[in-house]
Amino acid sequence: MEKIIIIGSGPAAHTAAIYTARANLKPLMFEGFMAAGIAAGGQLTTTTEIENFPGFPQAVSGPELMMRMREQSLRYGTRIETKTVDAVDVSSRPFKIKTGKEIFECEALIIATGATARRMSLKGESEYWQKGISACAVCDGALPMFRNQALAVIGGGDSAVEEATFLTKFASRVYLVHRRDQLRASKSMQKRAFSNPKIEIIWDHVPVEAIGEKFLTGVRVQHVKTNELRTLEVKGLFYAVGHLPNTSFLNGQLLCDETGYIKTIPGTTQTNIKGVFACGDVQDKVYRQAITAAGSGCMAALEAERFLEGE
Ligand code: FAD
Ligand code: NDP
Repeated sequence: MEKIIIIGSGPAAHTAAIYTARANLKPLMFEGFMAAGIAAGGQLTTTTEIENFPGFPQAVSGPELMMRMREQSLRYGTRIETKTVDAVDVSSRPFKIKTGKEIFECEALIIATGATARRMSLKGESEYWQKGISACAVCDGALPMFRNQALAVIGGGDSAVEEATFLTKFASRVYLVHRRDQLRASKSMQKRAFSNPKIEIIWDHVPVEAIGEKFLTGVRVQHVKTNELRTLEVKGLFYAVGHLPNTSFLNGQLLCDETGYIKTIPGTTQTNIKGVFACGDVQDKVYRQAITAAGSGCMAALEAERFLEGE
């Protein structure tokens, strides 16, 4: 029987591991094997330079940052299994964690399985992924390659407007390409988009192809009613078409919102089940940053420690 099991391998999981290991709880981590299509280490393994994680004034590559976090988890005594958790049973304690044919038991459980940014599978997408195409404007928008350039954001929700607005700080112009004639974003966010002179909304269009040479130079978009095609000459293409939280293995056992994110009691990482904690992007659809994930991983560890002390 384990005192504590951590599922996931991003900044939230590793921060929780470092804290619980240092508290002598001997955590067992399931880091996943290409879980949700992403290598162990999580979303940061899919990107290049991280410029906004404190402590790295010269920036650090995503994979290197995650390798360092993993090293730190191991150094303080975390045991790491490169296995994906297929199912859990949190209906009674000890909680049961299933991976392949094995079942592990634990007194406390931390879920840090993150989320996956939706991709669009456009023609040319894999060629220009991270060579102009990104799923995170806040992360990549300030890169020199996007400065004073025309850029495009796909989507019509709060993220799309937030990202388009953010990009206007660097870009010469931002096209907001939306598949309908009305934004899904909240009224206040809509107002931001409509009042920003650098944002041009391309209504009723979907992207169909990313084009370029070594780097992206444009995106072909199609009118959804007339099928007419046009090319937007842009150096950056940012997807904001939603994220999928990695919660399917929970099989509905924890309270989630309508989009599948785990619900936690505000200001804590506690789920609706005592002894089960959730941290990082799997319970956060607003901030979605490495540092906020790490912060909530620390919270989960401290809360789990207190929970175990009270047992
Ligand atoms: P994630 O990083 O989402 O990792 C969770 C991982 O757990 C999964 O990827 C998977 O490997 C594993 N897992 C999932 N399910 C299971 C399972 N059932 N069993 C076992 N393991 C499982 N943020 C920044 O602050 N700065 C940046 O510059 C930046 N750049 C980004 C660039 C890109 C392209 C993307 C997509 C995101 C970027 N982000 C950046 C956002 C940042 O990556 C996330 O906010 C952060 O990684 C979330 O951390 P997390 O710990 O919640 O989990
Ligand atoms: P949403 O699901 O709200 O929006 C996704 C957008 O992408 C929609 O406009 C959708 O179009 C469009 N879309 C989805 N799939 C496709 C596709 N295949 N082709 C073209 N367009 C597509 O996701 P968000 O990430 O914007 O927001 C998620 C949640 O997080 C929301 O609850 C939001 O309010 C919240 N949030 C809040 C923020 C804030 O308060 N500051 C900031 C960011 C997010 P359609 O509208 O036609 O469905």
